[in-house]
Amino acid sequence: MRLRIGHGFDAHKLVAGRPLMLGGIEVPHSRGLEGHSDGDCALHAACDALLGAAGEGDMGRHFPSRDSRWHGVASRVFLGETARLVRAAGFTLGNLDITLIAQEPVLAPHLEPMRATIAQVLEVGPEAVSVKAKSTDHLGALGRGEGIAALATVLLVGGE
Ligand code: MG
Repeated sequence: MRLRIGHGFDAHKLVAGRPLMLGGIEVPHSRGLEGHSDGDCALHAACDALLGAAGEGDMGRHFPSRDSRWHGVASRVFLGETARLVRAAGFTLGNLDITLIAQEPVLAPHLEPMRATIAQVLEVGPEAVSVKAKSTDHLGALGRGEGIAALATVLLVGGE
């Protein structure tokens, strides 16, 4: 059995006038994440972790922001496409662990729906996915609520 680990990071600014899309769901909040797509930094970190583990580069290589095809696309589409690439490379998902870093809004009530959504997009059981949330105790830009960041770690099994 061949094991491959990968990790990913992403952060986006919170701005007025956009829905907050995070972990594949809409979270009620007064501001949303800026970005060419829906700005979902959790799914972007997950995509980069999967691509990193598979040795397939990063999101910028597969979904370049200069390509108008990807403008305004739901990040669930990116994650689904990334999962397809990873399976095509001969890997299956061992597990995915995501940490969100946000001062606001309170994310605890939304973590299970995020987990279920991500598992569904990846075509795995929810036990293979974990989503946790932390604040920075008001430290730094994230602590001032200027944006939200996400870290993801993934284990893939198989491959050439
Ligand atoms: Mg991003």
